[in-house]
Order: sequence, then structure tokens, then C-alpha cells
Amino acid sequence: MIKLYNTLTRKKQIFKPVKKTRNEVGFYSCGPTVYWYAHIGNLRTYIFNDLLKRVLEYNRYKVKHVMNLTDVGHLTSDADEGEDKMEKAAQKEKKTAWQIAEFYAQAFKKDIKALNIKEPGQWVKATDHIKEQIALIRILEKKGYTYRIKDGIYFDTSKIKDYGKLAGLKKRKLKAGARVKITEGKKNITDFALWKFSPKEFKRQMEWDSPWGIGFPGWHTECIAMAEKYLGIPFDIHTGAIDLIPIHHTNEIAQAQAAFGKKMANFWLHGEHLILEHGKMAKSEGNIILIDDLIKKQINPLSYRYLCLQAHYRSKLTFSWESLKSAQNALNNLYEKIAEIKSKNKMPKSDRSERFWHRDKFLSYINDDLNTPKALAFIWKLIKEDKISYELLLEFDRVLGLDLDKIKEIKIPAGIKELAEKREKYRKEKNWEKADQIRKEIEKLGFKVEDTSQGADIKKGC
Ligand SMILES: [Zn+2]
Repeated sequence: MIKLYNTLTRKKQIFKPVKKTRNEVGFYSCGPTVYWYAHIGNLRTYIFNDLLKRVLEYNRYKVKHVMNLTDVGHLTSDADEGEDKMEKAAQKEKKTAWQIAEFYAQAFKKDIKALNIKEPGQWVKATDHIKEQIALIRILEKKGYTYRIKDGIYFDTSKIKDYGKLAGLKKRKLKAGARVKITEGKKNITDFALWKFSPKEFKRQMEWDSPWGIGFPGWHTECIAMAEKYLGIPFDIHTGAIDLIPIHHTNEIAQAQAAFGKKMANFWLHGEHLILEHGKMAKSEGNIILIDDLIKKQINPLSYRYLCLQAHYRSKLTFSWESLKSAQNALNNLYEKIAEIKSKNKMPKSDRSERFWHRDKFLSYINDDLNTPKALAFIWKLIKEDKISYELLLEFDRVLGLDLDKIKEIKIPAGIKELAEKREKYRKEKNWEKADQIRKEIEKLGFKVEDTSQGADIKKGC
């Protein structure tokens, strides 16, 4: 039984798939706008997505995961005003918008790989689905939800009774004109562009013909058109970062309701932000941290994954280099412990029924709205009490994704073993001086001996 916090109902609910008989979960996550690198704050959302997927899979669901790459239509304001992010980047980098999209899509794929985030079963690009988006807008038009102004075709949000339900606002409060000019002719402040016309003053790189004129789709239409095509609506779970709630996801819900008379997804899950001690991480603030910055500092990107697992996905996580370094230390300690457990190759101090209980306990944490901080603490407790087997650790890592299976056992060279035996002999003879001399010799060679009730234990490191 998995319980997930549903933003739509504002409570934890027991997850039940739409297709009850097939044990299949339809899962759509809003992907990146590929106009620049994803910073580690953006990537926290994708770690959360990955975790959710792994928990579902651990619970034996077949997850049909679709993620989009927004390569057109996302303007500098989420609310459809301002410049096109792709075209702006193209101008700046003196490349075509298509080259920009390709380059940053590849960079994103590289980053998620470094974080052990499983790729979605299907990547879908907005520019590959212009036809589908036009078809959706036509349905909306036929049903009377659209109107035309100078700038494009807009969705009339006043026609949706409970518009803004996801954001929990009766009437969405949007600060008009705070940063960008509100488009002239819009009937309601919350109305959004379905199709924007290409400007007359210059030629856009990305534009298409449509029944309404040459232009490009608005950002909020791609996900609903593609989710409908690949998953069918309603599907099971839709995810994104919390900043998508008030505009992007609210507008997706409105279109699904208007076009198909259905809700888009049963569960809406949102990941909280990563923050810095002195505020938000933002390109405009010049305080962006990328995965490459971690690698340059010789920090394993999985340390960042570990840091994220230490916090619940619905809590804000404050980033500092110190916190990342302690996550790195914790992860290295975990690796060391695993190498030890693997090289000992002995059964843990727990019987079968206890191990069954351990698995159950782990499951109860992750199935409680992905409570990874508790799951991690539980694993550490089992390790410290010498109660977990190598196999069970690997099984739990199917959820954590920390590469525990890649840790090699500690190979103790024959020479070191011989020295340890010699030392043991001297100890039995109570020749402490000689025994101590050999201990120092072993340490010089990068190993250490610990005396336990079962005899001497050799470990790597001093
Ligand atoms: Zn989306």
C-alpha cells in the first residue's frame, strides 16, 4: 500500500492505479526547457521523480513514464509573456534554436545519468508534436473555450468553474504587470496563450503554419497533448516542481477538462525547492551550481543525490557546500561499510523472520509518501547493528539508486593476512611489543587491524 500526498486534494491518499487489472502506472513528468543547463535545484525535482518511479517499481508496478523536453513556446514569464527562452538563447549563443535545444537536451541527459536518474521510457519533444497541439486547440475552439486577439489564440479561464483548484485559490491572485507587460486584449488575467502568432517585425526560427496563422504553441498545451497521446487521460501520476502549480499545471488541468471533460491525472505530486542560505538559486542571481561544478570539485554527483534523499521531497532543502560535503562523507562511509559487509561474506546477526521484518519496515517508510530520511536512518541502524546482508542492501538500493552494487569488496593481500596472523601469534604469547610493531607495519601498508571477540578483523585504511 503506497500513500502519496496529492496536491489536488491536499492529503495523503492510498495510491490506486487507473488500470486496475494491469498493474500499470501512467506517469508523466514535466521536463526541462532546454535553453540552458539544468542547475542542481532543477535536478532535485528529477531526483524526486526518479525516487517515485523506483518506489512504484519496487512495489511491482510497471511504470509507463513519459517526460517532455520543452523546446518551444516557453516564454521568460511562465504566464505567456516576455521573450521566447529558446530564441533568446539562440541569439545570445549565436546558434540556431534547434541547435540550442539539441545541445541542452543532451546536457540534461548527461546530468541525470550522473545522478543515477533512470531515463523515462519515452522522451517527447514539443516541436515533434505540433500537429497534436493544433488538434487539441481546435477541440477547445469548437467547444467555445478560446478567443482570438492580436497576439494569438487564448484560453478563456472564466469558462472553467473551479479554475485554480490545484493552487488552492478561489480566484488566482496574479500580480499583473509586475515584471512583464500584460498582453493587450486578454479577457482575464489568468487567460493563457494556446497559439501565439509570429511577430511581424522579425522572423522567428521556430514557427509553423496553423488554421489561425503562422506562429507557435503556448507552453501549457504541449504536456496535455502529449500525455493524451502516450498515456491517455486520466492517467495516474503527474509530477513537477512546486512552482508549476499555480500556472502551468493549473492550465493543463483546465484544458483537459475543457477538451475532454475529464481530469488530466489522478495524483499530482510536487517537489519542493532547493534553496541557498541567502535566497534562491537563479540564473539571474549568478549563483547557479551545475553538476559539472561538483565534478570539478571532485565531488561524486551521487553525494548530491544522497543529500536530497536525506530530506523529504516536500520539504525545502537548504544547500551549502558544507552540507554537500557531509553528504559525501556519509555516502563514502556507507560505501566503506558495504565493502566490509561484502568482503566478510557472512550472514548478518538476524534470522529469516527478522529480515522479513526489515524489508517490511523499509517498505513502510518509502511507501509513506517516499519518506527517504527515515528509510536511510533505518538502513544505517541495521548496518551499525550488523543486521543487514549484502543482498538486502542491494535490494534497498533499487530504490535509493546510490550505486551500492558497484562497490568492490575489500581485497586483503596475502602479505597483510600473513602479518596479521603473525601478530595474532605474538598476542597469544603476550609479546605486546612485537604485536604492536606488526600493527604499525600493517598500518603503514594502508590497512588496520581491529580486535574483535571473533579474532582480528582487517580493514582498509588507518
Ligand atoms: Zn508540463
